[in-house]
Amino acid sequence: MASHQLGISVEGRPITATVFNDNCQHTVTIFGGFHGDEPKSSHVCREFIKLLTQDSAHSLATRWVIAPLINPDGYERRNRRNANKVDLNRNFPANNWMLGSRRSRMFGGLSPASEPETQVVIKLIDEYPPDVIVTIHSISGDRFCNNYDGPAEDYAYAMHQHNKYPVRASIGYPTPGSFGYWAGVEKNIPTITLELPSHHSPRRCWLDNGSAILAVAGISS
Ligand SMILES: [Zn+2]
Repeated sequence: MASHQLGISVEGRPITATVFNDNCQHTVTIFGGFHGDEPKSSHVCREFIKLLTQDSAHSLATRWVIAPLINPDGYERRNRRNANKVDLNRNFPANNWMLGSRRSRMFGGLSPASEPETQVVIKLIDEYPPDVIVTIHSISGDRFCNNYDGPAEDYAYAMHQHNKYPVRASIGYPTPGSFGYWAGVEKNIPTITLELPSHHSPRRCWLDNGSAILAVAGISS
């Protein structure tokens, strides 16, 4: 297990990833904290790192790459966007990226991949090419789900066996420049956007999803 600093945020906060089993071929990459007002996503990532640290039997035959907090500046303020008021989950260089209104809480930046946090994610995907990605968010009401982009339907159902969240092919509104569209649809990497129920406690989110994340690697606990 090794932790790396991947880069820094707009305000200079470190963005890190923890890598387990760097010698394994099969790679599962997990992201949390794209949105600073969704701290449960980071909590689940950190608990997962703890689980793998404590019990290496869980991690065999998979290279796990876990980046718990992509947007540390937003997290500091409990704000969705980064310090430049950009929604990182709309800033990816996908062909559907759009220049939107700066006042929108989903502003995708002045150009694709304009933000240092976005560039860190792109670099991590290049350095550790994933077989499957889980990017964790949270959402209000009954919209929690295992959302998938690209060839990831089987993975979404594997997670459903554990967390019982609905499987959805689309979140229900357009997401130009989203990470899921860029990685899943354009790069054809199976990508799950795990939307946690924001009304559940951090502990409940972890208890419902630890085994669901292991299931993505084909590991049953
Ligand atoms: Zn989110």
